[in-house]
Amino acid sequence: MIIHRTRILGVNFVNTSFKKFTDVIEQRIQHHQNTFIVTANPEIVIYANQHSSYNQLIKRADYITPDGIGIVKAAKILNDPMPGRISGFDLFVQFLKWGNEHHKSIYLLGSHQAVIDDLIKVIHHRWPNLAILGSHNGYFSDSRAITKQIQVKQPDMVFVALGYPKQEAFINRYRKLSNSLWIGIGGSFDVLSGHTKRAPQFWINHHVEWLYRLLKQPQRIGRMMSLPRFLIDVYKQKMTKPK
Ligand code: UDP
Repeated sequence: MIIHRTRILGVNFVNTSFKKFTDVIEQRIQHHQNTFIVTANPEIVIYANQHSSYNQLIKRADYITPDGIGIVKAAKILNDPMPGRISGFDLFVQFLKWGNEHHKSIYLLGSHQAVIDDLIKVIHHRWPNLAILGSHNGYFSDSRAITKQIQVKQPDMVFVALGYPKQEAFINRYRKLSNSLWIGIGGSFDVLSGHTKRAPQFWINHHVEWLYRLLKQPQRIGRMMSLPRFLIDVYKQKMTKPK
């Protein structure tokens, strides 16, 4: 199935529903197709525009999803509206749920060891049919033990939660070791393990999850200042877009 894409400041986003997108990916996992997904928010788009090596790297991904309401708003500004967000966290939970139903296997890489330990408990409890073939915290200097394990175990899905740009660099470098789904999901391990709270549903439904995160972690202000800059650039793209 061909997925419609929308180009936002040079980054080619999938423009489809969460359900249609995950159906496509689940079929790819069934067929052991090597798949690299980037879940990108406005901050990542700005970063890609400022760092050509990262830009080149994410161009090699199979899919870039709109992880953040800012991307959905940008698509609307560009007259190519999206059905909604496809966030890294929601994809993570959906693939765990689907993987449990289909007896799939996973590898977990990222975050602190205490987070990983709790995450494994949560996954065993909620999705007992999933096989966790290996895991490693995200603070390592030598990746050989990790890559060796992935290569030997050949998990169906590899979840990489190192934050950007590290996680995409890791996936791009090692994805050929196993014909798996490889996806970068930022701070999702912290949230699912219970170490960091995601915004309550009310904030998510009203598209102000970013504000909740800012109030909880004021140190994120610097990162969030990229949003107004992002929207200005999107309007510029709209003005210069050929008819
Ligand atoms: N992290 C990691 N190794 C590192 C740096 C970060 O495992 O060298 C983890 C960190 O513990 C956290 C996640 O990566 O769990 C980054 O979360 P954040 O929400 O900042 O993701 P981003 O928005 O940067 O993708």
